[in-house]
Order: sequence, then structure tokens, then C-alpha cells
Amino acid sequence: MVGAGLSGAVIGRKLAEAGHRVTIIDRRSHIGGNCHTERDPETGVLVHVYGPHIFHTDDAGVWDYVNGFETFLPYINRVKTTSQGQVFSLPINLHTINQFYGRTLRPDEAREFIESQADTSISDPQTFEEQALRFVGPDLYKAFFKGYTEKQWGCSPRELPASILKRLPVRFDYNDNYFFHRFQGMPENGYTQMIARILDHSGIDVHLDVRFDPLRAPDYDHVFYSGPLDGYFDYALGRLGYRTLDFERFNYQGDYQGCAVMNFGDREVPFTRITEHKHFAPWEQHDGSVCYREFSRAAGENDIPYYPIRLVEEKEMLAAYVRRADQAEGVTFVGRLGTYRYLDMDVTIREALDTADTYLNHCAAGTAM
Ligand code: UDP
Repeated sequence: MVGAGLSGAVIGRKLAEAGHRVTIIDRRSHIGGNCHTERDPETGVLVHVYGPHIFHTDDAGVWDYVNGFETFLPYINRVKTTSQGQVFSLPINLHTINQFYGRTLRPDEAREFIESQADTSISDPQTFEEQALRFVGPDLYKAFFKGYTEKQWGCSPRELPASILKRLPVRFDYNDNYFFHRFQGMPENGYTQMIARILDHSGIDVHLDVRFDPLRAPDYDHVFYSGPLDGYFDYALGRLGYRTLDFERFNYQGDYQGCAVMNFGDREVPFTRITEHKHFAPWEQHDGSVCYREFSRAAGENDIPYYPIRLVEEKEMLAAYVRRADQAEGVTFVGRLGTYRYLDMDVTIREALDTADTYLNHCAAGTAM
């Protein structure tokens, strides 16, 4: 197993429970991948070291799974955004619309009003920009999405797929829950504790600070690889684009911004958002506070890859890598980096559970995966 993040831990656990001996290596000095959480020694605040992770899902099986390893406490993500000198509520909801346009519209009126702003000539939006113009119109697009997205992705929203914006709902009521899933919560003592418990099985050995050496792959019955897809093939077909994040971390005495996530829609503000980590654990009390200013940029060779960009024009290179991955014997590519997809944690866990099942079925049938 290459990678001790969610994919590696979940697959490893299932295989170990079925009697396999599992070796997990990770090049970092901690488990948990980008979900890693740790307490700040000065304030005691639980910090999402690689940026905010909020657990939400519609998949009851996945929800039961994570709750089997860690207590999840209620947490609803309510995001604010600062744009053009005002603070608004996200995702775009009736409060946002009424505040933005200085109106007192009711739900049906707002729906009709936004439809009148939207570009209805776009019947099948392909790009991020088309999706925005079709569903919220140019004013809201410019205030909340255009500048933010240029900062986040380093390119024009015309080059990005519509799927990125489809992650966000538009609501015509006052529901300001950022997500629309049935289940949402935060692990009481962080993701790293949860993943440590998943890994805590006599059939699993974890080795940190170890790099993957493809030449050693034949030593194992099978390799599950959750590192970058292009990295596995030594970038032979070129480099797939990733965004990386820089965090400017600062401590504050008191409450810095009154919420966990404050986005900044204006292009002139160089960071995309500020996260204040103690608000991710509202059941804890801390006088001190830990905040992150988050900057996004293109990942260089030695940077941690966070977001697969999936530019429309990159499709061919990706398809070629996926073909190679499908043909590679004895290795299965998993997770956000291994499959180069913008996966949320719940989908990552679902896919990991299913991948482990498929592997075990192959083992039972004596066929190769
Ligand atoms: N987005 C935006 N403005 C915002 C929040 C999000 O334009 O205030 C866009 C941006 O392109 C982002 C995408 O919507 O990448 C998806 O947002 P999400 O909050 O899901 O991003 P994540 O938390 O995964 O970075």
C-alpha cells in the first residue's frame, strides 16, 4: 500500500481483516495524508494542517464506517465571503441574493429574478464560466466566483470544467449549510486519530518517511498506489497539472473572524480564504486561535499536490496515463492523486471499500486484478 491517507488506511484495514498482511509506506512523517490534523501546542486548537476538511456524505455505509472508528460531533459548514467591501453568506442563498441586490424577495420571486439575470441561451454548460452565467448570471458570478476561481485555479474559469462549480448549490431559501448531504460532522479528536484507529490492526505495518520504489513492487502480491498518477510513470507522458497551497499561519488571542471559513471573492486580495481552526470544533473552548491565510499556486516538482486541475486541454494526457494505469499489472491506482480526480473524503472511502471488496473477490476466485 503506497500512502497512509484515507485510501490506504481503508483498503489496508479491509484486507488485514480478511487475513492479508499489509505493508503501508508513506513518504511523509505522519499518517493521514492531506487530512492530517494535530493540536497546536500553544493554544490547544486542533489544526487541519493541510487546510480544512469537513466530512459530509449521503452514503449511510460510509457514515457508519467512519463512526465505527471515531465519534463524529455535529458540525455544519457555514461559509462567509468578503466581496466588494461586504460580508455575504455562501453558498448563494436567499440571504445572499437579497443582500447583494438590496431586495426583500421571497423564494419564488428570487428564483424568477435570478433566472432573468441568467444567460438562458447556454443550454449545456461545459465550462465553469458557462455554468455560472447560466445559473446565477454575471453579477453574482463576478462578485463571488470569478476572482476567487482565478486565484484558486490560476487560469480563466473558461478553461475549467463546469463540474467544479457544480459542487456548490444555489438556494432560494435561507438555508446556509454549505453542503446538501444528509450526514455532516467532524471527528471529535481529528482525522489523524480516526485514521490511526483504522490502521490499528495486527495485520498492518506502517512505515513512515519511506519513498515508493517501483522496482520493489514485485515483492508484493499487489500494490495499491495512492500517490500521483503521473509520478508513478516517472512523468513519461508529461506532467499533469496540480495546484498546491501555501498557508500563512498566525495565532490570535480571542476570536479572529467569528467563523471557520471566510472566503475572499475580490481578485485584488491575494489569498483565497482565511480559516480559523477552532471554529471547526465548536464543542471545544480555547482562548487562543490558529488561523491560516490560504494561497493557491501551480505545484512545482517538489510541492505537495492538492488539487488536480483537469484542464479541458489536458484530457488527452490524462487519458493516456489512465490507459497505462489500466494496463499496469499488479497495481491499482486509488484516491485523489492516484486517479487524478477532485474527490471528497466520503467518495474516497466508498471507492476504497469497493476496491478492497473487488480485490478480495479476485483473491477468492483466484483471478488477477
Ligand atoms: N468557488 C468560488 N468562490 C467561493 C467558493 C468556491 O469561486 O467563494 C469555486 C472555486 O472555483 C472552487 C469551487 O467553487 O474551487 C469549489 O468550491 P469548494 O468550496 O468545493 O472548494 P474546496 O473547499 O474543495 O477548495
